[in-house]
Amino acid sequence: MKALRIMDWKSEPELVEVAKPQPGPGQVVIKVGGAGACHSDLHVMHDFEPGMMPWTMPFTLGHENAGWVDSVGAGVTTVAEGDAVAVYGPWGCGKCERCRVGVESYCENQAAAPVVNGGGGLGLDGGMAEYLLIPFERLLVRLPDGMEPATAAPLTDAGLTPYHAIRRSWHKMTPTSTVVIIGVGGLGHVGLQLVKATTGARVIAVDNRKEALELATSMGADHVLPSDDKAAGAIKDLTSGHGADVVLDFVGATPTMELARAAARPLGDVTIVGLAGGNVPLSFFTQPYEVSIQTTYWGAHPELVELLDLAARGQVHVETTTYPLDQALQAYHDLKDGKVRGRAVVVP
Ligand code: NAD
Ligand code: ZN
Ligand code: ZN
Repeated sequence: MKALRIMDWKSEPELVEVAKPQPGPGQVVIKVGGAGACHSDLHVMHDFEPGMMPWTMPFTLGHENAGWVDSVGAGVTTVAEGDAVAVYGPWGCGKCERCRVGVESYCENQAAAPVVNGGGGLGLDGGMAEYLLIPFERLLVRLPDGMEPATAAPLTDAGLTPYHAIRRSWHKMTPTSTVVIIGVGGLGHVGLQLVKATTGARVIAVDNRKEALELATSMGADHVLPSDDKAAGAIKDLTSGHGADVVLDFVGATPTMELARAAARPLGDVTIVGLAGGNVPLSFFTQPYEVSIQTTYWGAHPELVELLDLAARGQVHVETTTYPLDQALQAYHDLKDGKVRGRAVVVP
């Protein structure tokens, strides 16, 4: 079968021929129905230093996956051939306290996980191929009736990551509060909808692309702002001088992190989700009083189940541009060039 593989650090992936995987006991092979192209893959290709992650090259890209069960190994009981499923992406040990409550993203026994700090498409073979091996049946979530895998795939990361970040700040997203979304790309455009669908908060969206701000407006943003040195002042003006109760930074560059904390309201939350490698100094006076600054990584298994349900009920949808597997590399080029509206999804 064909697969888009990253062959080495600091290199572009290549479409190559590999053997179709076979499921061992407790394992499942899915026929891929959709694999999202995440900006994190661009960081893996271009920004990560060799050995920064303890992963062995090569591996197949694609860590937002859904499809149909193709074959199951001995002892698999929860899914059967033909079932439409989404893949929970962070693959932990399955046995530690964090994994037992479904937060495999923060597995505390990484040495016993299939790969350290990763999953399919991040250190192990992912979904930009015709078939994908799932090492444990527990990592699959059956899709709500009628949902297509190509629709579900981006929800497993571009949806789940913002949902997790938003959920932990829900108590600050009151009906009179303001949430700022920085970066209205794959993650940000779903995050914006999730704030609107699950809270009464007002949303201000910030991006440096005109098309992204138009997308934000079409998704119900109350205000949109270009990402420049006037944005923090504009957010203060829009909030009677108070600032934003919650700022979600889906870029993570130094200027967006500076904006995030400058725009925050005392007692607010600043959550850095983007991996653009920015950094800002931290001291008592570098942000308004009692602002919590945090990072989040991916999300929890039960949150993915909730999110698929929200999507099935039409509360959130992912704007997608689809690419055949032969064009998967083009999807990443378009993402890098800022040409993707919402999420690029490879449909083999
Ligand atoms: P994307 O390329 O689809 O979207 C990024 C958006 O940010 C684009 O709309 C772009 O125009 C905008 N942008 C870029 N620079 C900006 C700036 N200075 N100010 C305002 N907007 C700016 O990317 P994505 O797939 O949505 O991923 C976003 C980030 O989140 C990436 O760094 C990715 O690696 C990271 N990520 C983190 C997690 C996590 O668990 N923490 C999970 C997935 C992705
Ligand atoms: Zn990702
Ligand atoms: Zn674990």
